[in-house]
Amino acid sequence: MTTRESLVFRSDVTVELVKSSASDADVLFAARVSTAGEQSLEELKKDPERSKGLINYLMRDRHGSPFEHNSMTFFIGAPIFVFREFMRHRVGWSYNEESGRYRELQPVFYVPGEDRKLVQQGRPGRYEFVQGTPEQQKAVTTAMEESYRQSYAAYQDMLEAGVAREVARATLPVGLFSSMYATCNARSLMHFLGLRTQHELAKVPSFPQREIEMVGEKMEAEWARLMPLTYAAYNQNGRVAP
Ligand SMILES: Cc1cc2nc3c(=O)[nH]c(=O)nc-3n(C[C@H](O)[C@H](O)[C@H](O)COP(=O)(O)OP(=O)(O)OC[C@H]3O[C@@H](n4cnc5c(N)ncnc54)[C@H](O)[C@@H]3O)c2cc1C
Repeated sequence: MTTRESLVFRSDVTVELVKSSASDADVLFAARVSTAGEQSLEELKKDPERSKGLINYLMRDRHGSPFEHNSMTFFIGAPIFVFREFMRHRVGWSYNEESGRYRELQPVFYVPGEDRKLVQQGRPGRYEFVQGTPEQQKAVTTAMEESYRQSYAAYQDMLEAGVAREVARATLPVGLFSSMYATCNARSLMHFLGLRTQHELAKVPSFPQREIEMVGEKMEAEWARLMPLTYAAYNQNGRVAP
């Protein structure tokens, strides 16, 4: 038996940094082993300007591996369609997501907020998004909420009839919220951000879907706080992962 739940409609995403071991010093000791060997840790506190210069040099010349000696774990809540895009990022990422087989999925669904641009103009690769009219906004909200209600009711009907969760979930849409832990390092995060955010400093523009960009922006804010010199060098060098 399941209890009939009321639906929750959300237009935001959540990103929480749950665990990290990440600082600019992690880049420096890894890089300085080249010249200082086992003394590279002692070199850390010597000269901040030199440290800044070294990080910038590594970023500019794309010496990427020193940016891998750190770790950040995020707990992310977002619609399934965002996770489908997210998990295409294979290198330097670890994922664990909630299961639709082992737990009853909660009725939390994505409905775009008023600031989400609804209308796409132009040809593939050169899209521009513009604000929808109030009528379009209403059409989107009404259609999505109605569809979510129907599909979640069908899901619950099947569960009540004794059907397994893994079978019944097929009726649920990609606007359903899911949750996952995603662990990465600064290098893999930079590659992700280069593809999944738009930024005026980006040397190579990308055109990500807004909802994954919303996740990316929150991750970026956490990372910037942990590794300010690396973050500054990333922006200074056109947001290209080294
Ligand atoms: C705007 C946008 C639109 C997209 N549209 C589509 C779409 O329509 N359809 C679709 O299927 N995907 C689409 N994607 C996903 C895209 O093709 C990539 O799968 C995704 O961005 C992950 O990038 P990545 O492979 O570079 O990352 P990662 O998997 O993290 O790989 C990082 C880097 O490692 C190297 N690497 C990883 N695996 C290999 C390999 N097997 N061989 C050689 N080198 C490797 C590459 O240098 C790669 O850049 C889109 C992505 C973006 C940003």
